[in-house]
Amino acid sequence: MRKQIAAANWKMNLTLQKGEELLDDIIALPHELKADQQAIFAVPFPYLAMAQQKVHGKKNVFIAAQNCYNKKSGAYTGETSVEMLLSLDISYVVLGHSERREYFNESNQFLAEKVNICLENKIHPIFCCGEALNVREANGQNDFVAKQLEESLFHLSAEQIQNVVIAYEPIWAIGTGKTATSDQAQEIHAFIRSQFATKYGAAVANNISILYGGSVKGSNAKELFSQPDVDGGLVGGAALVASEFVAIINALK
Ligand code: PEP
Repeated sequence: MRKQIAAANWKMNLTLQKGEELLDDIIALPHELKADQQAIFAVPFPYLAMAQQKVHGKKNVFIAAQNCYNKKSGAYTGETSVEMLLSLDISYVVLGHSERREYFNESNQFLAEKVNICLENKIHPIFCCGEALNVREANGQNDFVAKQLEESLFHLSAEQIQNVVIAYEPIWAIGTGKTATSDQAQEIHAFIRSQFATKYGAAVANNISILYGGSVKGSNAKELFSQPDVDGGLVGGAALVASEFVAIINALK
């Protein structure tokens, strides 16, 4: 059965102390993670060790990096390798967030290399995809997302693809307060799953978690997650408020 996931993306926010407090507050608030549910915290690189220590021994709770480099090691000043992440026991990495695509020019091909090095090292990519407003207005979202999947993921084997989590994040809904309706989310999530089904077969497609991202909050999470092809959320702003993120965890189906 595929996993239902509440993933927090802290982006470039908080200090070490504020991050510790936030994790302490979230851990202290009542929440329950069933066997097929996970909470994941994608924290800034300097906080990975702290966060990993905080959640140590907590069932179904994982720490993620927000990025990694496509090379094993070497003279790449300022970059972080998967080997470094592995040495901290990190098991997830967010890849292809629209902010990285836009501000750091990350292409589908470059992301395919990052996906490969993660999977070779048994780290699960949380692969972000999603269209800008002008693409949605021209009804081009399916073609746009299909191309992102094809160019970054469809070279993978059926076994490998099941280790990838997908986060569909329409750019027009990220940090804008504008959420896709649950019908809009379901429609494109079903389309994404159908792309995997065509390429890898229905059984494989049914095993892939597809998260929705874009202004998810405590108040809209239940409705979004109730859709059959929405397997949780990747959450930015609301993940910085303990009570909000716990409400999102508790909205997982
Ligand atoms: C994100 O950072 O991936 C995101 C979806 O942000 P927000 O929840 O703030 O829209």
